[in-house]
Amino acid sequence: MKLASKVALITGAGSGMGRAGALLFAVEGAKVAVADIDQRAAELTARDIEAAGGKAIALGADVSKKEDAQAMVATTIAKLGVPDIVYNNAGIEGESAFLAQMSEEAFDRVIAVNLRGVWLGMKYALPHMAAKGRGSIINTASIAGMVAMRGAAAYCAAKAGVIALTRVAALEYGRYNIRVNCICPGTIDTPMMRRVHGGKVPPQALGPSVAVLGRAAEPEEIAKMALFLASDDASFATGAPFVVDGGWTAV
Ligand code: NAP
Repeated sequence: MKLASKVALITGAGSGMGRAGALLFAVEGAKVAVADIDQRAAELTARDIEAAGGKAIALGADVSKKEDAQAMVATTIAKLGVPDIVYNNAGIEGESAFLAQMSEEAFDRVIAVNLRGVWLGMKYALPHMAAKGRGSIINTASIAGMVAMRGAAAYCAAKAGVIALTRVAALEYGRYNIRVNCICPGTIDTPMMRRVHGGKVPPQALGPSVAVLGRAAEPEEIAKMALFLASDDASFATGAPFVVDGGWTAV
């Protein structure tokens, strides 16, 4: 098993890619703290992990809130131990509107969850991980942090910010044997993507990748990249965006 005796904290793990990552990490031997703003969804993921013979706890947390982020880390340490892996994955799509039409509230909420939430997750976990002298942080960015998408100014800005935060964290904490990377998924068939498109992911949601692999990915395909980054297999990988986009940014 690739994560035997490791402790992992995963946010947004009640749904989509976070849930897939939580299930895979547990199969690979990690004890998993399943955090989500939707406590019930977190409990379902934790229950499924335990039903399969793994170890998990469920935490209700809004990653954009300082108190929640602090409590999420503190409870993980109290119940499972200092995390070896923190996977800051929670995110929202926000409202789709051209830049000048976007409300201040919508802009602020996307930045608060998708960017501030990732910073808070690292801020409160890093001192403990540094004291432990090892660790892997994985942040969920997006190809939206690398290319422009209409109607998604705040989302693109937040995800570009996650890539930048990832690089700085890697630079600052490499001396503590902590690796920090981010994943830039393309179109993944999750509840978020289905919500955005009102059902099954349509071809136009594939962007340029329609000409390459021509399909959306399953969340499990991203979980495998997260597992790689979490494990010692990625021992020399840090400060990097890992693009898993079915070819979107290649064309
Ligand atoms: P998802 O199925 O909606 O799962 C995200 C989970 O995060 C949901 O359970 C959601 O709860 C939770 N969440 C939302 N706001 C939160 C908060 N403030 N604190 C804690 N948890 C919160 O979405 P997904 O597609 O798996 O997305 C996961 C990550 O991948 C996000 O960061 C997203 O931006 C990114 N991403 C997605 C795609 C894609 O194609 N799907 C592509 C690139 C990047 P609720 O359901 O109650 O909101």
